[in-house]
Amino acid sequence: MRVRKRKGAEEHLANHPQYVILEPEAAKGKWHELFGNDNPIHIEVGSGKGAFITGMAQQNPDINYIGIDIQLSVLSYALDKVLASGAENVKLLRVDGSALTNYFEDGEVDMMYLNFSDPWPKDRHAKRRLTSKEYWARYDRILCPEGRVIFKTDNRPLFDFSLEQVEVAGWELDNYTFDLHHSEYAEGNVMTEYEERFTAKGNPICRLVAHRDPQKNK
Ligand code: SAH
Repeated sequence: MRVRKRKGAEEHLANHPQYVILEPEAAKGKWHELFGNDNPIHIEVGSGKGAFITGMAQQNPDINYIGIDIQLSVLSYALDKVLASGAENVKLLRVDGSALTNYFEDGEVDMMYLNFSDPWPKDRHAKRRLTSKEYWARYDRILCPEGRVIFKTDNRPLFDFSLEQVEVAGWELDNYTFDLHHSEYAEGNVMTEYEERFTAKGNPICRLVAHRDPQKNK
């Protein structure tokens, strides 16, 4: 998602410390404290303009959501959605997903969402894909033992790569589909901005759910 720099984005974010975590390193290990409850913590890496994280937060008030994006302007649009929704169970974090272990303690996260992650189509950039084995190793650290990663995309080469990397990383698939909206998993699906756009174009949406191989953790 490329968006033009938004004037005043930084100030907008700084003005809402209840929603935007301005000192992410200090939050490590303290997320339940920050939310003020012991509810599960679900994060989305690359949350874009926030339709998914806000929709999920409204649908599930007993779950704490954290939307993470590396781009300041994009995150400021997500903040608009959070403010408009009135949801109190969402926080936003402007950090790079490759450094998640700096902001979350081992096992602190219950569920992770990756939606329409950047494809990085060149082979030499494969490590930058949020579903490369390098990333699964990071998710392994921050997710609790029963944690799941749920990934959606319309990009079939990226999806095929991701299915393969799940295995390479020693994780297991709970399920996957090449056409989410016409599958048994369609119910309750919250659409992202990209999902709306690509679905309107007629692209089928792929989705996988993965967890750690329990044998490996023994
Ligand atoms: N999930 C949204 C946006 C998809 S575009 C949707 O489905 O509509 C991918 C988003 O990931 C962009 O907003 C981009 O800024 C963000 N992103 C890319 N690499 C990232 C990284 N390493 N860490 C955090 N966010 C990242």
